[in-house]
Amino acid sequence: MRYVNKFCVLAPVNVIDFFIFARYCEKMPELKLDSQIQYLKGVGPRRAASLAGVGIITVYDLLQYLPRRYLDRSMIVPIGALQANMEVTIVGRVLGKGILRGRRSRLEVVLGDDTGIIALIWFAGYRYLEKMFTKDDIYAATGTVSYYQQRQIVHPEMERIEDEESRLIHTGRIVPVYPSTAELKKAGVTSRLMRGIISRALEMMSGRLVDYLPERYLAEPNLCPLPDAIQQIHYPDDMDSKDRARTRLAFDELLSLQYMILQNRKERKRVSKAHTYHPPGDIVKRFTETLPFTLTEDQQTAAGKILSDMQSDRPMHRLLQGDVGCGKTVVALAASVYAAENNLQTAFMAPTEILAEQHFQSWREVLEKLDIPAALLTGSIGKAEREQIERRIADGTVDIVFGTHAVISESVQFAALGLVVIDEQHRFGVLQRGKLITKGTRPDTLVMTATPIPRTLALTLYGDLDISSVKTMPPGRQTTRTVWRTANSRPEIYSYLKERIQEKEQVFIIYPLVEKSEKLDLQAAEDEYKRLKKEVFADCRVGLVHGRTKKDKREKTLADFRAGKIDVLVATTVIEVGIDIPSATIMVIEHAERFGLSQLHQLRGRVGRGEKRGTTIAIAVPPLSDLAKKRLNMFQASTDGFKIAEADLELRGPGEFFGTRQHGLPELRVANLVVDSWLLPITRKIVTELLRDDKELDREDSNLLSCLRQMSGNRRDLSRFG
Ligand code: ADP
Ligand code: MG
Repeated sequence: MRYVNKFCVLAPVNVIDFFIFARYCEKMPELKLDSQIQYLKGVGPRRAASLAGVGIITVYDLLQYLPRRYLDRSMIVPIGALQANMEVTIVGRVLGKGILRGRRSRLEVVLGDDTGIIALIWFAGYRYLEKMFTKDDIYAATGTVSYYQQRQIVHPEMERIEDEESRLIHTGRIVPVYPSTAELKKAGVTSRLMRGIISRALEMMSGRLVDYLPERYLAEPNLCPLPDAIQQIHYPDDMDSKDRARTRLAFDELLSLQYMILQNRKERKRVSKAHTYHPPGDIVKRFTETLPFTLTEDQQTAAGKILSDMQSDRPMHRLLQGDVGCGKTVVALAASVYAAENNLQTAFMAPTEILAEQHFQSWREVLEKLDIPAALLTGSIGKAEREQIERRIADGTVDIVFGTHAVISESVQFAALGLVVIDEQHRFGVLQRGKLITKGTRPDTLVMTATPIPRTLALTLYGDLDISSVKTMPPGRQTTRTVWRTANSRPEIYSYLKERIQEKEQVFIIYPLVEKSEKLDLQAAEDEYKRLKKEVFADCRVGLVHGRTKKDKREKTLADFRAGKIDVLVATTVIEVGIDIPSATIMVIEHAERFGLSQLHQLRGRVGRGEKRGTTIAIAVPPLSDLAKKRLNMFQASTDGFKIAEADLELRGPGEFFGTRQHGLPELRVANLVVDSWLLPITRKIVTELLRDDKELDREDSNLLSCLRQMSGNRRDLSRFG
């Protein structure tokens, strides 16, 4: 009942509100967790629709919509006490505003409290912003104080605050700030409105929420009960309670993730596959004999494991991991060849067309010698040719199909799909991986990744897979030399490159490409290509490839580069995954500050694959954040993929978009895999016990299990996982 008291303070119900409130209570005497929120006061059909857009449909979803941050008096700094470089939240009244024209036009808003005033400055979007501010409105502003003729905060994050709330803050309340999207704003769903409807929902649910987690599981990780967690995550008594609440919710999220992974694994172990294997004949041996090198011990061990998995009557689900350049492809090819020997087809999937093309080009001949027909199937292949290839896949004349996700499109039917290889698995969406694995008659699956991850994380990500590692590099491989420089070193770098090119070395110059700014990035790469070709490397042969380059052109450029007919290859990050051109020895990474650490490491793995030692030069364009500098220093200091990956995880602090796509991680709402990694083994243990076949479950445990089952059905985002 203590909640109710609090909400009287937080959401004072005036007379009219009260009537509406009472009416809805009547209409919905039993507000349940799965009740639609549209009947909550303050919501209505239009807002309900836009809330549905961010996944809030039921009261349960609403209570799971967590504050982005909190306004806490203890964290609010009096304006009079501000000093340059402080990162602060301040609360004050708008005293004045104006657009100042000049060399850099800007909006200036003056905010004041009892102790002083400060200027808030915007250089971008100020015409729109200017209208937003009204004199005497109260705002919380968060940002870094700087000094330029006066104390100011440039581009602060703003949160409008009602008088009422400002009083709450000043009496020591912690006020939640909810995330908002453009669409929500358009429908009038502000953080303030969210506060209103969430506190009403909390109030109406108070005393009726039950914890589904048996009490005995709370003790060891010191978790708070679920009803408290839900209350405290929205309206914490203090920051400690908020942290405990968050931990509890993170625990629940990881618990249901573990359930999905382990349940998946269990189901897979139960089914038997439709195909059988003969013991290996001589074809795998002949395959390895055609190679210009002998397999390393790790490669042999991995291949042996895989071949014996394939002979088992349960489908294989194995992960082959190893640092970039260690030679995973050939291991997967050995498995594909073994499948072909048994008249079974292989779908060999790569995350980019370029990589699929490369695999096809480099293995076709070897495979032909062994009488194993292969084909390439990507989105760029014309309709007629595609249909023809699909026919050959359907009638079984093609044994190995190299491709991108086009391979999993509905129209492709395999005569006898026995093996699915997923190269660079971390680049595939979780959804695609799931879809691929389910295709066909329970094929064996081999996934490969060059992103080494700490063990606890591996268990989360790949908890449903058996794992093999290739730890050693092929003999004779030297580590790549790495340096990072700032942009003003470009002239020296260019003359160094020209020297190396004289010595017949080949150079990659890489430009970043991110989805968010893809168009701009492509343009930048094209412009730079033109500039380099004309102004810098006029005497050299310069080529360009990126994801939008037409297939024929792309293949030709890469073939020319491979054949030494191109000296400098300008490329976007499409090169990052898998590209194998042993003669390339130098890589220049432009705008290196925009890359993640693991991504830089992947890129670097592209050079120095031949006899000559590789060199990587990362060029960073200031201003550089401390974090970017740390990343670059680490990149320069270490070539150990594992160390790099761990540092990468550490440097990506909580709250930051956790490279979900990079690592193939499921989107997690609350849990942070760095901060909460200690919960992984605990949740794993609980779920393992629950799923044990011989385990007699008591009432509490079977209730927990059925809740987990239900949740895994509901969680759209997580249920794709696996
Ligand atoms: P990754 O594991 O990053 O996918 P690749 O499979 O592309 O690495 O192999 C990298 C390079 O190493 C290729 O040029 C490949 O031919 C070569 N390679 C693989 N295994 C060996 C080996 N045992 N000895 C020598 N070179 C090898
Ligand atoms: Mg590879």
